[in-house]
Amino acid sequence: HAKGCGRRQAQYFNQGVSASAKARFLMENQLIEAIANDGLSLVYQPIMSGDARTLVSCEALVRWQHHSQGFLSPAEFLPLAYEAGLIAELDLWVLERACRDIKLARARGLSMPPVAVNLSADAIMDPSLTDKIWSLLEQYQVHGSQLELEMIEDAIKDDSDVLQHTLKQLVRMGLKLSIDDFGTGYSSLLRLKNLPFTKLKIDRSFIQDLPKDADDCALTLSILGMAKGLGVSVVAEGVENGDQEAWLQQQGCNYLQGFKYHKPMPIDDFLDLLTTA
Ligand code: C2E
Ligand code: MG
Ligand code: MG
Ligand code: MG
Repeated sequence: HAKGCGRRQAQYFNQGVSASAKARFLMENQLIEAIANDGLSLVYQPIMSGDARTLVSCEALVRWQHHSQGFLSPAEFLPLAYEAGLIAELDLWVLERACRDIKLARARGLSMPPVAVNLSADAIMDPSLTDKIWSLLEQYQVHGSQLELEMIEDAIKDDSDVLQHTLKQLVRMGLKLSIDDFGTGYSSLLRLKNLPFTKLKIDRSFIQDLPKDADDCALTLSILGMAKGLGVSVVAEGVENGDQEAWLQQQGCNYLQGFKYHKPMPIDDFLDLLTTA
């Protein structure tokens, strides 16, 4: 009797595992399909000048319109993309769509501000990345200066020749490089000094409790001071209210991004915003 029960339990367990493995396999294939057939989409979030008056650039953020699960945010499917080895391909899709949207804006007589795209370590470490970007620029008649690339500290932690070479080449092509979520990873000052980054984006977690949290004030101030010393500019991410804004402005933060100004929006809304701004 006990044996039978144990077997039933084991069976139940196996079914559970295989059900979730199946679901994962299905999701993975749906993601491959979405990347290949434009099942993904982009939303654009404006980045404002330090005085918050002018829209100076924007960040392209990926979404997945899943047929049964609805509009999925990066947190809901990027982990799968990373684990399944699909993230570099996804990043390339985003780059291409951004170029296409820059061209679309031009066709409507508008000029898209520089578009920042997020790049994973896999994409950056791909030795043919610069060739791929070069082809996109040519195909869509986009200048390198219309694109910016954001990378988190951990994506650039490997001190390899490929990385050095790629980053240099990208800068030569006119692209600007930013470090994203600054303060959450580990990168040394020396590393920053030796790589051609021109912007730091302070992670939202440091901005959230400004100016009440004394630690966050101290950390943000030290990042701003360090950036000044290195001659790079700073973007504060996740600015949601006037208190944060006033404090950041007082400290001379160069750029502001957050729901206080605009939420990420589809390209048509973004182009409308450009028309009215
Ligand atoms: P991120 O690059 O740091 O992008 C900023 C995130 O903060 C976005 O979330 C944006 O919607 C959110 N955000 C902006 N302002 C505010 C605010 O005031 N309050 C709050 N609560 N949130 C704000 P999202 O779109 O969910 O993206 C999350 C992360 O997913 C991104 O963080 C980025 O690391 C990653 N990601 C997005 N698109 C791509 C992509 O195409 N490729 C790669 N590799 N990663 C991507
Ligand atoms: Mg980013
Ligand atoms: Mg960030
Ligand atoms: Mg982030």
